[in-house]
Amino acid sequence: MDRPAATAGAYGAGSTRSGIAGQTRTMPTFPKDATEHTRRANAPRDLGMDPGDFERATRGLVAQHATGVIEGAWGTAWDVSRYAFIEQGSVNPDTVNPSLWRQAQLNNIHGLFEVAPGCWQARGYDISNITFIEGETGWIVIDPLTIEGCARDCLALANQHLGRRSVTAVIYTHSHTDHFGGVLGVTTQADVDSGRCRVIAPEHFLRETVAENVIAGFAMNRRGMYQFGVLLQPGPRTHVDCGLGKAIPISPPGLIAPTEEITRTGEELVVDGLRIVFQLTPETEAPAEMNFFFPDRGWLCIAENCTHNMHNLVPIRGAQVRDSLNWSKYIDEAERMFGARTDVMFASHHWPRWGSDDVRAFLRTQRDMYRYIHDQTMRHANHGLTPLEIADLIEMPEEYRNEAHTTGYYGHLAHNVKAVYQRYLSWYDGNPANLWKRPPVDAGRRYVELAGGADALLAHARRCFDDGDYRWVAELVNHLVFADPTNVEARELQADALEQLGYQSESATFRNAFLCGAHELRCGHPPRNDAMKRGLLTAMTVGQLLDAVAVRLRAESVGGLAATVHLRVGGASPPFGGDWTVTMSNRAISSAAGLHGEADAVASLDRSVLLDLGTNSTTIDDAIGTGRIALEGDAAALVAVFDHLDTFQSMFPIVEP
Ligand SMILES: [Zn+2]
Repeated sequence: MDRPAATAGAYGAGSTRSGIAGQTRTMPTFPKDATEHTRRANAPRDLGMDPGDFERATRGLVAQHATGVIEGAWGTAWDVSRYAFIEQGSVNPDTVNPSLWRQAQLNNIHGLFEVAPGCWQARGYDISNITFIEGETGWIVIDPLTIEGCARDCLALANQHLGRRSVTAVIYTHSHTDHFGGVLGVTTQADVDSGRCRVIAPEHFLRETVAENVIAGFAMNRRGMYQFGVLLQPGPRTHVDCGLGKAIPISPPGLIAPTEEITRTGEELVVDGLRIVFQLTPETEAPAEMNFFFPDRGWLCIAENCTHNMHNLVPIRGAQVRDSLNWSKYIDEAERMFGARTDVMFASHHWPRWGSDDVRAFLRTQRDMYRYIHDQTMRHANHGLTPLEIADLIEMPEEYRNEAHTTGYYGHLAHNVKAVYQRYLSWYDGNPANLWKRPPVDAGRRYVELAGGADALLAHARRCFDDGDYRWVAELVNHLVFADPTNVEARELQADALEQLGYQSESATFRNAFLCGAHELRCGHPPRNDAMKRGLLTAMTVGQLLDAVAVRLRAESVGGLAATVHLRVGGASPPFGGDWTVTMSNRAISSAAGLHGEADAVASLDRSVLLDLGTNSTTIDDAIGTGRIALEGDAAALVAVFDHLDTFQSMFPIVEP
């Protein structure tokens, strides 16, 4: 995912408003205090959770980063001092859920740790972990973090304290950016091309790294800002954690394509002298993912399939829903394949677990958790209950309650229930009253009218706020904000309600979303930024690039236009180059590999031209005019297809129309 530029301005404290429909007025200092209701909800208490986690998270410390500050392409990407306010062993402030505070303390622990003789992890210098394994001649690196700077500094830390080695292999556990984006910090394309460094990944890795970004990239990126709270300043009233790790380092990701893909469970490789047995786990936490086991050492890498929290069955940034049933079955398979022989299990986030009995118990509980959520959701669905009803009905029972690793710090039970329902039955709950609802602005105006006007709605909502019913206030006042986004009192009350919901949330991602919403209601959303970054576009196939272009078609501008164009894309071999047929008809652009039918025009172009069109850094007229496209036939046909493209902006409003 493209990350927002660090210059966007952080969400922190303030006391005045500007930019909301041109209004300027003084308002109370924010972020605000916890209310009495929130103070009660967040009262420090004995959580009864496994104290062994702190021992596991600190075990084997070898060294820490000398400064704790890591630079990225867009400035400082990581600074451990930003979270120094989360002291180990401290009591939670009244603006943070006590259970989340515990997780935030664990995720604050940072350093290079020995997992087992010959196996080390750097943790706490990125949202994810990087693992270093001593091979016969050099390092086997598992998951080179999100950004180059973090990966480079962690490798330097390992070389400094464990002896300098070259990197002989990189293993990507799965297709999410935080596990490959920093690869250029540990190796180079030249080392990979020359065979000095192998790059091993699960089947379909490359396809899946970009697939998520092709069609929904902009929307997902903006929504991701809410999930991770990337613009929230660290602080007890703002950002404390992401659940899965401390924070997301911001810098453009890199990617080196795998040299080898694992295609079946049970496949064994010898990597720099070490035997590794792989287990493919597609359609689990990621569409392409794998666990693996070192049979001569008793080490199990469980990728991101099991972490020390309840994971997402669908992230709130948005994604295709994950398969909780298969996820549970793959954990079961891992336990059966490797559990009895495992001495230590480590993962792509959080801390390891040691001892076969402990690992097996952990895996079984993780397996049962996803199975429980899946089965109980569908049990109630088959009784006719709908997502909102099931989400409010299901709780994690006592068997799970004291297990910190089944707590929804990253995922959230209510959200996961809806994900399971959506996978089988879609967003629609089956009630035709919900089949054709009015959009938010229209519905908002009608609800406000029904309530007797804005003042009456606000008066009622204030009473609910005083009662601590923040969830209802958020639903109610949202109607008024959408009916009239210039109503400052509505915005402030809505912000106050979201803020208290954030303070009370056990889930870091829910907290981040609530607090981002509160800030944007008070200060407006960041300026729209027409930033069509290349990011992972460079790894897209021609088919993916053409699909991404087609989503930008301004259909209202192309009535009556029809054209068929043959594209001959040079500069790379298929699927990154090659021959394509692109057709526009009925205000839609279709594309297919190969040259089909009669073409109005034949365009020969380098792949780089297609990338420039994809990122809006050139227009079709310029590309033809400068000779970057060699054209035979009717130029108007090519222009018809490529000259009516929208541009997307990195910031769009979320909590207001
Ligand atoms: Zn991850």
